[in-house]
Amino acid sequence: HAKAHGRNTFRFYTREMNTQVADRLQLENRLRRALEQDELFLLFQPQHDINSQALIGCEVLLRWQDPTEGLIMPSRFIPIAEDSGLIVPLGRWVLREACLQMARWRAQGLQLPKIAVNVSARQLARLDFTDEVRDALQESGLPGHCLEIEVTESTLMEDADLASRQLAIIKAMGVRLSVDDFGTGYSSLAYLKRFAPDTIKIDRSFVSDLPGDSEDAAIVSAIIHLARALGMSTLAEGVETMEQCDFLRQLGCSGIQGYLLGKPQDANSIARQLGELVS
Ligand code: C2E
Ligand code: MG
Ligand code: MG
Ligand code: MG
Repeated sequence: HAKAHGRNTFRFYTREMNTQVADRLQLENRLRRALEQDELFLLFQPQHDINSQALIGCEVLLRWQDPTEGLIMPSRFIPIAEDSGLIVPLGRWVLREACLQMARWRAQGLQLPKIAVNVSARQLARLDFTDEVRDALQESGLPGHCLEIEVTESTLMEDADLASRQLAIIKAMGVRLSVDDFGTGYSSLAYLKRFAPDTIKIDRSFVSDLPGDSEDAAIVSAIIHLARALGMSTLAEGVETMEQCDFLRQLGCSGIQGYLLGKPQDANSIARQLGELVS
């Protein structure tokens, strides 16, 4: 009986796995088409100075509007894009569109210090990535300091020598660097020193249970003190409540991003916000 059950279980998993592989392949093909057929678009999430509340930047977040399935989130398609290599043309598109949008805002006289673009390991590992950054800046006429790239700790560690050479070239253009999801990877102190990011982004998982969770509070406090001692700024991700914001301010955090101050939104919505700040 147990054997029969085992066999059934096995068959069940096999069928499920086949379905998963087929799903992935199908999604990969649709994603390839999505890029050609303009189904991808960008949202922008405001980043604010924790003390003055001033807008210090916007993170660029990719979305996919599929004609049949509707809105597809990055957690579903970015891993597939990374595995298949599609992240390279896709990431190039994001970088270019983000810089062009930033240039449009600036041409409208809207003051936004920078846009932050997520960059995957596979993008950074390509030798022509530095050319792509240079091209995106040149085409949009954007000064380098208006662009920040966000990379995770694991991206830095994958091939540290290559990453370090690539980032040196990009930094020489004035482009800023932030370490995304900090604390969830290896959090190597040697790497922080070596890559000298401008900003450390404190992962949302350490923020969501503040101020009540004393361990998270200790971790966040330690990250902020370390960053300050190294001359880096900190930006807390996923700030949803005023209590979290107040607590982070007391700890000396420099910036916040999260639903409390703004969800990811379209370019017009950001422009309206900036316009209100100007007038
Ligand atoms: P991330 O770079 O850490 O981006 C932050 C994520 O947290 C975003 O999810 C954002 O919508 C979400 N978020 C922001 N504030 C809050 C909050 O207060 N509460 C909660 N619950 N969530 C909040 P999203 O847009 O789904 O993106 C997920 C991840 O997908 C990103 O994490 C990033 O790793 C990746 N991603 C998004 N766009 C791109 C892209 O253009 N290129 C690459 N390579 N990766 C991207
Ligand atoms: Mg990010
Ligand atoms: Mg993050
Ligand atoms: Mg992430």
